[in-house]
Amino acid sequence: MGDKVVIHRYEVIIIGGGLTGLRAALQVFDAGFDVAIISKVNPLRSHSVAAQGGMNASLGNVKGPEGSIDSWKNHAYDTVKGSDYLADQDAVERMCREAPKTVIELEHMGTVWSRLENGKIAQRPFGGAGFPRTCYAADRTGHNTLNTLYEQVNARKIPIYDEFFVTSLIRDQGRCTGCTALEFLKGEIHGFVAKAVLMATGGFGRIFNKSTNALINTGDGQSLTLRAGVPLKDMEFVQFHPTTLYGTNILITEGARGEGGILLNKDGERFMERYAPDSLDLAPRDVVARSIEEEFVQKRGFKGDYVQLDIRLLGEERIMERLPGIRQISMDFAGVDPITEPIPVQPGQHYSMGGIDVDINGRTSLEGLYAAGECACVSVHGANRLGGNSLLETVVFGRLVADKIIEDVKEFATPPKKLVEKVIKTSEDHIEAIIQSKGLENQFNIKDMLNQTMTTKFGIFRKEDSMLKGLSDIKKMQEKISKVSLKNKDRKLNHALIRLLELQGMLLLSEVVAIGAIKRKESRGSHKRTDYPERDDENFLKHTLVKREEEDMIVSYSPVNLGMFEPEERVY
Ligand SMILES: Cc1cc2nc3c(=O)[nH]c(=O)nc-3n(C[C@H](O)[C@H](O)[C@H](O)COP(=O)(O)OP(=O)(O)OC[C@H]3O[C@@H](n4cnc5c(N)ncnc54)[C@H](O)[C@@H]3O)c2cc1C
Repeated sequence: MGDKVVIHRYEVIIIGGGLTGLRAALQVFDAGFDVAIISKVNPLRSHSVAAQGGMNASLGNVKGPEGSIDSWKNHAYDTVKGSDYLADQDAVERMCREAPKTVIELEHMGTVWSRLENGKIAQRPFGGAGFPRTCYAADRTGHNTLNTLYEQVNARKIPIYDEFFVTSLIRDQGRCTGCTALEFLKGEIHGFVAKAVLMATGGFGRIFNKSTNALINTGDGQSLTLRAGVPLKDMEFVQFHPTTLYGTNILITEGARGEGGILLNKDGERFMERYAPDSLDLAPRDVVARSIEEEFVQKRGFKGDYVQLDIRLLGEERIMERLPGIRQISMDFAGVDPITEPIPVQPGQHYSMGGIDVDINGRTSLEGLYAAGECACVSVHGANRLGGNSLLETVVFGRLVADKIIEDVKEFATPPKKLVEKVIKTSEDHIEAIIQSKGLENQFNIKDMLNQTMTTKFGIFRKEDSMLKGLSDIKKMQEKISKVSLKNKDRKLNHALIRLLELQGMLLLSEVVAIGAIKRKESRGSHKRTDYPERDDENFLKHTLVKREEEDMIVSYSPVNLGMFEPEERVY
């Protein structure tokens, strides 16, 4: 490592080049501010690119039951019910009201939405939705929208520091004044000083072993924020998607059922008739995932624990038009052509409902630090997210939070540089200690253990004794990780070093998930406890907050913002 310290200065730094980060960057740039994006991968490799099924908006282009027309209120109702009443209704209202104009804005920027015969944007039915509300670009919606925003960012020549891994936030007397990042290519730490920092770093699905998430979804933003003393919210709520490809757990979009696909057990039964007689295969994800697991328990799954998703009834033409990516994935990764055979599927981790605690404007409790998108918990998804609402959240809140940043930055004084050199030094020392370590532990074994623990102890069904064992195992892994040594001691292009930095954060997040899950003695949305099978509004209609002080995790709760929808029993 050379002696030279590189420090960059911007008014606003955005960490993350997915849909949230790119949308926010456009907004800040167009308001005339100096902004840069930092991303650990090229922005087009962000997990947003993998989104398949679509984005919800009550455009009303396709009629609902008995010819009825959709509205933002219907969208809000479905979202709140889907969340098992844990979502903050003011945030939900905002998102649903903004949705139609957001889809059209993307269209104007260049997104090629699929069309109806009459030329309007097509909409498909999705789980837990009372209307066909999900706008899509075949089954490659994330690819299409991310490329749209990336082109816009490039057209404006907004600086992007890609393959820069953020290692810490700078906290200067109750204010966030930037971050440090490791340049992957050269192995050097850079300092970034800014008036405002936006976290747009995505989910943490990779703490589990069966996951649809990209390998980079390690929740770095959440662990960086936790270390900076900001609480995380509702981290125990983790979504398991019912249909991931057996063997690799690549996502098979809910759009496949939206288009008419059905789920079958080994006896050829359409088993969802048993669990959700009205919504059937299009009940929300938590309900369908649990139903499939129940089929496994009752020995009605196929050997190896999977069921079949049958889309043959759609016919070749429709499959090729609406679900070409799903067909390709099934052929490439399972050797199955869904035009002629059913797809083998099983549930897998898919989405992180919890995240960085923010208010409706994306502000955290630390001045100058904001969060939006999957890494944040604003909270529009509560205990269970509806499909199609997350892509929507990224672009709606990417824009709205950027607007707040623009407002705030005008008031913020230019931060002093003095602390940044110290934080760079701390990051340097941390990395040097890892490189020099002669410990005997292997990080990949620890990662496997963590994945196994999270999946078996904090999966679809949870109960006290096994969760307590899980938490104690996580603590042991936290001890072990300090004794890892790297085989590759080079600073440059060191993948193992980045994986280890990620894993250190993942162990912290897993502890937060575990604590929240153990303390929440009820079942709500994705959090299903076999020892407390009912929802308990009297004691648990509240958000979990976990904060780190020194080495301790401090738990508190905050009220849910209810609004026009009173909590009811959730039946589908
Ligand atoms: C397979 C799949 C399909 C999906 N399909 C849909 C769908 O059809 N509809 C829907 O609504 N939702 C869908 N979702 C969910 C949705 O795609 C995501 O929630 C959303 O795209 C997340 O966007 P984001 O901008 O918050 O984060 P991401 O797109 O995950 O981007 C995170 C960014 O943060 C950067 N980053 C992270 N850590 C660091 C660090 N330490 N240093 C620097 N940079 C860092 C990364 O480089 C990346 O650029 C799907 C999810 C998956 C996994």
